[in-house]
Amino acid sequence: MSMTLPDDAPSLADILAAQGRIAGVAVETPLAPAVALSRRLDADILFKLDLAQPTGAFKLRGAANAVAQLGAESRARGVVCASTGNHGRAVAHAAARLGVRAVVCLPEMATEVKVAAVAAEGADVRRVGRDQDAAQAEVDRLVAEEGLVEISPFDHADVIAGQGTMAVEMLRARPDLETIVTPLSGGGLASGIALAAKAMNPRIRIVGVSMARGPAMALSIAAGRVVDVVEEPTLADSLGGGLNRDNRYTLPICAALLDEIALVSEAEIYRGVRWLLREERLIVEGGASVGVAALLAGKAVARGPTAVVVCGRNAPPEQIAAILDGRPVRLGDEMIDGGEA
Ligand SMILES: *Cc1c(COP(=O)(O)O)cnc(C)c1O
Repeated sequence: MSMTLPDDAPSLADILAAQGRIAGVAVETPLAPAVALSRRLDADILFKLDLAQPTGAFKLRGAANAVAQLGAESRARGVVCASTGNHGRAVAHAAARLGVRAVVCLPEMATEVKVAAVAAEGADVRRVGRDQDAAQAEVDRLVAEEGLVEISPFDHADVIAGQGTMAVEMLRARPDLETIVTPLSGGGLASGIALAAKAMNPRIRIVGVSMARGPAMALSIAAGRVVDVVEEPTLADSLGGGLNRDNRYTLPICAALLDEIALVSEAEIYRGVRWLLREERLIVEGGASVGVAALLAGKAVARGPTAVVVCGRNAPPEQIAAILDGRPVRLGDEMIDGGEA
Protein backbone atom coordinates (compact mmCIF):
# COMPACT_ATOMS: atom_id res chain seq x y z
CA MET A 1 0.00 0.00 0.00
CA SER A 2 1.34 3.43 -0.70
CA MET A 3 0.37 5.94 1.89
CA THR A 4 2.13 9.24 2.23
CA LEU A 5 3.05 10.81 5.54
CA PRO A 6 0.59 13.45 6.78
CA ASP A 7 2.17 16.92 6.37
CA ASP A 8 1.92 17.55 10.09
CA ALA A 9 3.66 14.30 11.08
CA PRO A 10 6.30 15.11 13.70
CA SER A 11 9.69 16.10 12.29
CA LEU A 12 13.04 15.38 13.91
CA ALA A 13 12.96 19.00 15.15
CA ASP A 14 9.61 18.32 16.86
CA ILE A 15 11.05 15.21 18.48
CA LEU A 16 14.14 17.07 19.70
CA ALA A 17 11.86 19.78 21.13
CA ALA A 18 9.88 17.05 22.90
CA GLN A 19 13.11 15.77 24.41
CA GLY A 20 13.69 19.11 26.12
CA ARG A 21 10.09 19.33 27.24
CA ILE A 22 9.88 15.93 28.92
CA ALA A 23 13.25 16.08 30.70
CA GLY A 24 12.59 15.94 34.43
CA VAL A 25 9.38 13.91 33.98
CA ALA A 26 10.54 10.98 31.84
CA VAL A 27 14.13 9.75 32.26
CA GLU A 28 16.81 8.84 29.74
CA THR A 29 17.05 5.04 29.86
CA PRO A 30 19.98 2.66 29.33
CA LEU A 31 20.79 0.89 26.08
CA ALA A 32 22.39 -2.17 27.64
CA PRO A 33 24.03 -5.21 26.02
CA ALA A 34 21.65 -8.18 25.85
CA VAL A 35 24.34 -10.59 26.91
CA ALA A 36 22.47 -13.90 26.89
CA LEU A 37 20.41 -13.18 23.77
CA SER A 38 23.48 -11.98 21.84
CA ARG A 39 25.24 -15.22 22.74
CA ARG A 40 22.23 -17.37 21.87
CA LEU A 41 21.69 -15.75 18.46
CA ASP A 42 25.35 -14.97 17.75
CA ALA A 43 24.45 -11.33 17.15
CA ASP A 44 25.13 -7.85 18.60
CA ILE A 45 21.89 -7.14 20.47
CA LEU A 46 21.11 -4.36 22.93
CA PHE A 47 18.05 -3.76 25.06
CA LYS A 48 16.56 -0.26 25.26
CA LEU A 49 15.37 -0.53 28.85
CA ASP A 50 12.48 1.89 28.79
CA LEU A 51 10.76 -0.15 31.48
CA ALA A 52 12.87 2.00 33.83
CA GLN A 53 10.53 4.99 33.38
CA PRO A 54 8.96 6.13 36.67
CA THR A 55 5.58 4.74 35.53
CA GLY A 56 7.11 1.41 34.46
CA ALA A 57 6.54 1.98 30.73
CA PHE A 58 7.65 4.24 27.87
CA LYS A 59 4.25 5.91 27.53
CA LEU A 60 5.34 8.63 29.94
CA ARG A 61 7.39 10.15 27.11
CA GLY A 62 4.40 10.84 24.88
CA ALA A 63 2.02 11.71 27.69
CA ALA A 64 4.46 14.19 29.27
CA ASN A 65 5.02 15.88 25.91
CA ALA A 66 1.30 16.16 25.18
CA VAL A 67 0.33 17.41 28.65
CA ALA A 68 3.18 19.96 28.68
CA GLN A 69 1.77 21.58 25.55
CA LEU A 70 -1.76 22.10 26.80
CA GLY A 71 -2.78 25.73 27.11
CA ALA A 72 -4.21 27.24 30.30
CA GLU A 73 -7.80 26.69 29.16
CA SER A 74 -7.25 22.98 28.46
CA ARG A 75 -5.43 22.54 31.77
CA ALA A 76 -8.38 24.01 33.56
CA ARG A 77 -10.78 21.61 31.84
CA GLY A 78 -8.74 18.48 32.58
CA VAL A 79 -7.66 15.57 30.39
CA VAL A 80 -9.21 12.20 29.54
CA CYS A 81 -7.96 9.07 27.82
CA ALA A 82 -8.78 5.45 27.10
CA SER A 83 -6.05 2.99 27.97
CA THR A 84 -5.17 -0.63 28.69
CA GLY A 85 -3.31 0.89 31.67
CA ASN A 86 0.15 2.18 30.79
CA HIS A 87 -0.98 5.25 28.86
CA GLY A 88 -3.55 6.10 31.53
CA ARG A 89 -0.94 5.87 34.26
CA ALA A 90 1.42 8.08 32.24
CA VAL A 91 -1.23 10.71 31.54
CA ALA A 92 -2.27 10.67 35.20
CA HIS A 93 1.35 11.05 36.33
CA ALA A 94 2.15 13.90 33.92
CA ALA A 95 -1.16 15.68 34.68
CA ALA A 96 -0.72 15.39 38.45
CA ARG A 97 2.66 17.10 38.25
CA LEU A 98 0.96 20.14 36.72
CA GLY A 99 -2.10 20.01 38.96
CA VAL A 100 -4.33 19.02 36.02
CA ARG A 101 -7.34 16.72 36.56
CA ALA A 102 -7.11 13.37 34.71
CA VAL A 103 -9.94 10.93 33.96
CA VAL A 104 -8.81 7.50 32.73
CA CYS A 105 -11.26 5.08 31.09
CA LEU A 106 -10.16 1.47 31.46
CA PRO A 107 -12.00 -1.56 30.07
CA GLU A 108 -12.99 -4.53 32.23
CA MET A 109 -10.16 -6.45 30.48
CA ALA A 110 -7.50 -4.17 32.02
CA THR A 111 -5.32 -5.99 34.56
CA GLU A 112 -5.89 -5.14 38.22
CA VAL A 113 -2.24 -4.21 38.75
CA LYS A 114 -2.58 -1.48 36.11
CA VAL A 115 -5.93 -0.21 37.36
CA ALA A 116 -4.46 0.18 40.85
CA ALA A 117 -1.42 1.98 39.46
CA VAL A 118 -3.57 4.51 37.58
CA ALA A 119 -5.62 5.18 40.72
CA ALA A 120 -2.43 5.60 42.78
CA GLU A 121 -1.39 8.46 40.48
CA GLY A 122 -4.50 10.30 41.66
CA ALA A 123 -6.57 9.89 38.48
CA ASP A 124 -10.34 9.52 38.39
CA VAL A 125 -10.64 5.91 37.15
CA ARG A 126 -13.70 4.75 35.17
CA ARG A 127 -14.15 1.04 34.45
CA VAL A 128 -16.26 0.92 31.31
CA GLY A 129 -17.24 -1.89 28.97
CA ARG A 130 -15.38 -4.98 27.93
CA ASP A 131 -12.64 -3.67 25.67
CA GLN A 132 -10.76 -0.62 24.44
CA ASP A 133 -13.48 0.32 21.94
CA ALA A 134 -15.99 0.55 24.80
CA ALA A 135 -13.56 2.64 26.86
CA GLN A 136 -13.07 4.94 23.88
CA ALA A 137 -16.83 5.45 23.55
CA GLU A 138 -16.89 6.72 27.15
CA VAL A 139 -13.99 9.07 26.35
CA ASP A 140 -15.93 10.47 23.39
CA ARG A 141 -18.90 11.06 25.70
CA LEU A 142 -16.78 12.84 28.33
CA VAL A 143 -15.22 15.08 25.70
CA ALA A 144 -18.64 16.00 24.30
CA GLU A 145 -20.54 16.36 27.58
CA GLU A 146 -17.93 17.51 30.10
CA GLY A 147 -15.46 19.32 27.86
CA LEU A 148 -12.45 17.25 28.91
CA VAL A 149 -9.45 17.29 26.54
CA GLU A 150 -8.59 13.90 25.04
CA ILE A 151 -5.03 12.62 24.89
CA SER A 152 -5.09 9.64 22.52
CA PRO A 153 -2.75 6.77 23.43
CA PHE A 154 -1.18 6.69 19.96
CA ASP A 155 -2.84 8.76 17.20
CA HIS A 156 -1.66 12.14 18.44
CA ALA A 157 1.27 14.15 17.03
CA ASP A 158 2.63 15.20 20.44
CA VAL A 159 2.39 11.65 21.78
CA ILE A 160 4.22 10.29 18.72
CA ALA A 161 6.92 12.97 19.04
CA GLY A 162 7.39 12.05 22.72
CA GLN A 163 7.77 8.35 21.94
CA GLY A 164 10.30 9.29 19.22
CA THR A 165 12.68 10.63 21.87
CA MET A 166 13.54 7.01 22.64
CA ALA A 167 15.13 6.60 19.18
CA VAL A 168 17.15 9.80 19.57
CA GLU A 169 18.64 8.39 22.78
CA MET A 170 19.38 5.03 21.12
CA LEU A 171 21.11 6.49 18.06
CA ARG A 172 23.13 8.95 20.11
CA ALA A 173 24.34 6.07 22.28
CA ARG A 174 25.00 3.78 19.30
CA PRO A 175 25.12 5.62 15.95
CA ASP A 176 26.07 2.30 14.30
CA LEU A 177 22.68 0.64 14.98
CA GLU A 178 21.38 -1.10 11.85
CA THR A 179 18.12 -2.55 13.19
CA ILE A 180 15.54 -1.51 15.79
CA VAL A 181 12.94 -4.08 16.86
CA THR A 182 9.92 -2.52 18.58
CA PRO A 183 6.52 -3.61 19.89
CA LEU A 184 3.64 -2.47 17.65
CA SER A 185 0.00 -1.98 18.61
CA GLY A 186 -1.69 1.37 17.86
CA GLY A 187 1.66 2.42 16.44
CA GLY A 188 2.49 5.57 18.40
CA LEU A 189 5.72 4.01 19.62
CA ALA A 190 6.76 2.57 16.25
CA SER A 191 5.81 5.81 14.43
CA GLY A 192 7.87 7.97 16.77
CA ILE A 193 10.84 5.62 16.63
CA ALA A 194 10.71 5.30 12.84
CA LEU A 195 10.35 9.06 12.23
CA ALA A 196 13.31 9.89 14.49
CA ALA A 197 15.56 6.98 13.54
CA LYS A 198 15.09 7.33 9.79
CA ALA A 199 15.70 11.09 9.99
CA MET A 200 18.99 10.34 11.78
CA ASN A 201 19.93 7.36 9.58
CA PRO A 202 17.77 6.68 6.48
CA ARG A 203 19.26 3.17 6.08
CA ILE A 204 18.20 1.89 9.50
CA ARG A 205 15.76 -1.04 9.46
CA ILE A 206 12.68 -0.84 11.72
CA VAL A 207 10.87 -4.07 12.59
CA GLY A 208 7.48 -3.88 14.35
CA VAL A 209 6.26 -6.86 16.36
CA SER A 210 2.59 -7.42 17.16
CA MET A 211 0.71 -10.27 18.76
CA ALA A 212 -0.93 -12.66 16.33
CA ARG A 213 -4.17 -12.23 18.34
CA GLY A 214 -5.70 -9.13 16.74
CA PRO A 215 -2.76 -7.47 14.93
CA ALA A 216 -4.70 -4.33 14.01
CA MET A 217 -1.84 -2.42 12.40
CA ALA A 218 -0.60 -5.31 10.22
CA LEU A 219 -4.14 -6.04 8.97
CA SER A 220 -4.85 -2.34 8.37
CA ILE A 221 -1.63 -1.79 6.40
CA ALA A 222 -2.44 -4.84 4.27
CA ALA A 223 -5.98 -3.60 3.62
CA GLY A 224 -5.02 0.05 3.10
CA ARG A 225 -7.62 1.19 5.64
CA VAL A 226 -8.45 0.76 9.32
CA VAL A 227 -9.54 -2.84 9.98
CA ASP A 228 -11.38 -3.66 13.22
CA VAL A 229 -10.12 -6.51 15.37
CA VAL A 230 -11.84 -8.46 18.12
CA GLU A 231 -9.99 -7.96 21.38
CA GLU A 232 -9.14 -11.26 23.09
CA PRO A 233 -7.32 -12.02 26.33
CA THR A 234 -3.54 -12.11 25.75
CA LEU A 235 -0.30 -12.20 27.70
CA ALA A 236 0.49 -8.92 25.90
CA ASP A 237 -2.40 -6.89 27.34
CA SER A 238 -0.71 -3.58 26.53
CA LEU A 239 -0.93 -4.46 22.82
CA GLY A 240 -4.72 -4.89 22.90
CA GLY A 241 -7.23 -2.84 20.95
CA GLY A 242 -7.69 -1.58 17.43
CA LEU A 243 -6.76 1.60 15.58
CA ASN A 244 -9.16 4.49 15.84
CA ARG A 245 -11.58 4.63 12.85
CA ASP A 246 -10.50 8.14 11.84
CA ASN A 247 -6.79 7.32 12.17
CA ARG A 248 -4.75 10.26 10.95
CA TYR A 249 -1.13 9.56 11.82
CA THR A 250 -0.05 6.09 12.83
CA LEU A 251 -1.46 4.04 9.95
CA PRO A 252 0.12 6.12 7.17
CA ILE A 253 3.38 6.57 9.14
CA CYS A 254 3.74 2.85 9.91
CA ALA A 255 2.74 1.93 6.33
CA ALA A 256 5.43 4.24 4.95
CA LEU A 257 8.27 3.65 7.41
CA LEU A 258 8.15 0.13 8.87
CA ASP A 259 10.39 -2.29 6.97
CA GLU A 260 8.88 -5.47 8.41
CA ILE A 261 6.14 -6.61 10.77
CA ALA A 262 6.40 -9.90 12.67
CA LEU A 263 3.50 -11.57 14.51
CA VAL A 264 4.05 -13.68 17.61
CA SER A 265 1.81 -16.31 19.21
CA GLU A 266 0.90 -16.48 22.90
CA ALA A 267 3.33 -19.39 23.39
CA GLU A 268 6.10 -17.31 21.80
CA ILE A 269 5.27 -14.35 24.07
CA TYR A 270 5.41 -16.73 27.05
CA ARG A 271 8.87 -17.86 25.95
CA GLY A 272 9.96 -14.25 25.44
CA VAL A 273 8.95 -13.28 28.98
CA ARG A 274 10.56 -16.45 30.35
CA TRP A 275 13.82 -15.69 28.56
CA LEU A 276 13.89 -12.15 29.94
CA LEU A 277 13.17 -13.39 33.48
CA ARG A 278 15.54 -16.34 33.58
CA GLU A 279 18.37 -15.44 31.22
CA GLU A 280 18.48 -11.64 31.48
CA ARG A 281 17.05 -11.18 35.00
CA LEU A 282 14.49 -8.61 33.86
CA ILE A 283 10.85 -8.37 34.94
CA VAL A 284 8.97 -7.48 31.77
CA GLU A 285 5.28 -7.47 30.81
CA GLY A 286 4.13 -9.54 27.84
CA GLY A 287 3.64 -6.59 25.50
CA ALA A 288 7.20 -5.43 26.05
CA SER A 289 8.72 -8.87 25.46
CA VAL A 290 7.46 -9.37 21.89
CA GLY A 291 10.73 -8.20 20.32
CA VAL A 292 12.66 -10.87 22.21
CA ALA A 293 9.87 -13.36 21.40
CA ALA A 294 10.16 -12.64 17.66
CA LEU A 295 13.97 -12.94 17.68
CA LEU A 296 13.90 -16.23 19.62
CA ALA A 297 11.25 -17.60 17.23
CA GLY A 298 13.27 -16.59 14.17
CA LYS A 299 10.43 -14.31 13.03
CA ALA A 300 12.69 -11.25 13.20
CA VAL A 301 16.40 -11.25 12.41
CA ALA A 302 19.07 -9.20 14.20
CA ARG A 303 21.05 -7.89 11.22
CA GLY A 304 23.97 -5.71 12.35
CA PRO A 305 23.93 -4.00 15.74
CA THR A 306 20.30 -4.39 16.85
CA ALA A 307 18.35 -2.55 19.55
CA VAL A 308 15.34 -4.34 20.98
CA VAL A 309 12.82 -2.06 22.71
CA VAL A 310 11.91 -3.50 26.14
CA CYS A 311 9.46 -0.91 27.29
CA GLY A 312 7.19 -2.03 30.13
CA ARG A 313 7.25 -3.94 33.39
CA ASN A 314 3.68 -3.61 34.67
CA ALA A 315 2.87 -7.31 34.63
CA PRO A 316 0.56 -9.06 37.10
CA PRO A 317 2.83 -10.60 39.78
CA GLU A 318 1.07 -13.98 39.53
CA GLN A 319 1.79 -14.07 35.79
CA ILE A 320 5.48 -13.39 36.39
CA ALA A 321 5.62 -16.07 39.10
CA ALA A 322 3.94 -18.68 36.87
CA ILE A 323 6.18 -18.01 33.87
CA LEU A 324 9.31 -18.00 36.02
CA ASP A 325 8.28 -21.41 37.37
CA GLY A 326 7.34 -22.71 33.91
CA ARG A 327 3.67 -23.13 34.92
CA PRO A 328 0.78 -22.30 32.55
CA VAL A 329 -0.91 -18.89 32.82
CA ARG A 330 -4.70 -18.63 32.89
CA LEU A 331 -6.23 -16.24 30.33
CA GLY A 332 -10.01 -16.36 30.61
CA ASP A 333 -10.97 -19.99 29.88
CA GLU A 334 -7.63 -20.82 28.40
CA MET A 335 -4.25 -21.94 29.75
CA ILE A 336 -1.13 -20.62 27.97
CA ASP A 337 2.26 -22.24 28.32
CA GLY A 338 5.51 -22.08 26.41
CA GLY A 339 4.75 -25.18 24.33
CA GLU A 340 4.55 -25.16 20.54
CA ALA A 341 2.05 -22.99 18.59
C1 LIG B 1 1.34 0.89 24.65
C2 LIG B 1 2.37 -0.15 24.72
C3 LIG B 1 2.88 -0.74 23.55
C4 LIG B 1 2.35 -0.41 22.18
O1 LIG B 1 2.51 0.94 21.81
P1 LIG B 1 1.69 1.55 20.59
O2 LIG B 1 2.10 2.96 20.51
O3 LIG B 1 0.22 1.38 20.89
O4 LIG B 1 2.04 0.75 19.37
C5 LIG B 1 3.89 -1.67 23.69
N1 LIG B 1 4.38 -2.03 24.90
C6 LIG B 1 3.93 -1.48 26.03
C7 LIG B 1 4.53 -1.92 27.33
C8 LIG B 1 2.91 -0.53 26.00
O5 LIG B 1 2.47 0.01 27.14
